[in-house]
Amino acid sequence: MPHIWCAGCGHGIVMGCLIRAIDRVGLDKNRTVIVSGIGCSSRAPGYMDFDTLHTTHGRALAFATGVKMANPSLNVIVIAGDGDLAAIGGNHLIHAARRNIRIATVCFDNSTYGMTSGQYSPMTPTGKFASTAPYGNIDRPFDLCELAKGAGATYVARGTTYHASLTVNLIAKALEHNGFAFVDVLSQCPTYYGRRNKLGGAVEMMKWYKDNAVPVQAARQSPEPLPPGRFMIGELFTVTAPEYTDEYAGVLERARERETRA
Ligand code: SF4
Repeated sequence: MPHIWCAGCGHGIVMGCLIRAIDRVGLDKNRTVIVSGIGCSSRAPGYMDFDTLHTTHGRALAFATGVKMANPSLNVIVIAGDGDLAAIGGNHLIHAARRNIRIATVCFDNSTYGMTSGQYSPMTPTGKFASTAPYGNIDRPFDLCELAKGAGATYVARGTTYHASLTVNLIAKALEHNGFAFVDVLSQCPTYYGRRNKLGGAVEMMKWYKDNAVPVQAARQSPEPLPPGRFMIGELFTVTAPEYTDEYAGVLERARERETRA
């Protein structure tokens, strides 16, 4: 299949995980909408045979919210890069999470803006290099999972391209979750982030994921906090809470009752 991704890019693996998860939970292709913004990851919907929307930078969740509100029976999935989702789209992320609207959001998180040649993103670790941080990034990165949880997301998980089977499981659970579900998937960009930071090629970057990921159960049993650079993978948080379009159906019902009485 012709595609735009560089050799070794992690985004094809993440897209494969999403497709396997959709297949596993049996979503109806004709009832499923995939929405993306702008960036290397946001080209993925163009390679999938669903109803898809390739929208403007940072606005995938705004468009997806409109789709879900217009027809709550649809399965709505958002694909977004970390720059798209956490920077220009950060406000949409926190409010979609706060509303607990049923949108499964998969972040293709490569710690950079790949499409525009490697500017630093809100997920670039402190000290790493980028085209806009040639002397080292002085910003502190978000923990996107903690951000989503703090904003009100009711399902939060993290996978990587190395842990593809786990990532399929996590996305499948997100697709079945009745509320805002957020899955952060670490995905290597060897072309800009890897090369500029001397991390090796795709294999070495995936090996780094393997060596530094800590399953959430092990991390929570340990009396010590995770050392710097290590990160948790797995299902980090899940809770049940009222879903936004269900609540809005109640608003419509109350409005109809009032009109009938008037
Ligand atoms: Fe993937 Fe990076 Fe190439 Fe974009 S620039 S396709 S993120 S490897």
